[in-house]
Amino acid sequence: MTDVASNIVNVQGEISRAARDVHRHPREITLVAVSKTRGVTEISAAADAGLRHFGENYLQEAIPKIEALAERGLQWHYIGRIQSNKTAGIARHFDWVQTLDREKHARRLNEQRPENRRPLNVCIQVNISGETRKGGVEPDGVTQLAQAVLGLPRLQLRGLMGMAAATGDETRIAHSFDQLLGAFMELQRNVRSLDTLSMGMSGDFRVAIRCGASMLRIGSAIFGERAYSAPRNDHEG
Ligand SMILES: *Cc1c(COP(=O)(O)O)cnc(C)c1O
Repeated sequence: MTDVASNIVNVQGEISRAARDVHRHPREITLVAVSKTRGVTEISAAADAGLRHFGENYLQEAIPKIEALAERGLQWHYIGRIQSNKTAGIARHFDWVQTLDREKHARRLNEQRPENRRPLNVCIQVNISGETRKGGVEPDGVTQLAQAVLGLPRLQLRGLMGMAAATGDETRIAHSFDQLLGAFMELQRNVRSLDTLSMGMSGDFRVAIRCGASMLRIGSAIFGERAYSAPRNDHEG
């Protein structure tokens, strides 16, 4: 097995354990492999190991990978900050956008979604970390943006996405995820079709599963540490 394949086996095992601990079925939880900075070979290895969903943060970096792997039937999730001049490319190449936080971007994505493709799946990003740098609407702005998306026929509202603060404090992480679950359940009372609560990354996916996540976005636990993150010690590649 490649490193990537064995990492996937390990991560899936941990997802199953964490789910069973809270009496949830692992099949309720979709794993999105975050493949930013990774090449086609590594993504292919992950697809060979059974993964179907991949997340990318940068449009220019993602397009050649999406095109090279077009025959593999993968689902591509845009999880980076959205810039207005990138919406056409996102609408054309991706299956999902998880980082919607402005009505203006929703309208552009709706107009630019090609006719020959299904409606673009959308999660509204909610700011639950308190760090504005990460983007996301404030929790009290979710309803208004959701109403706007529901009026756009080329977008399919699927749910909410959020990122907890990068901290080792599990209580604080769980508090953020509980806040997102609360917003999701409130929205779901009016919009029954919502099925996606995207929260949990390599460092906090076990907490996210306990708090009700239905989708995890995991990069480094599958592909290893990213090269552009700050060097930690001399022994790491
Ligand atoms: C990079 C990224 C991830 C994955 O982070 P890891 O810690 O490598 O698992 C998840 N979500 C978003 C929005 C990201 O930008």
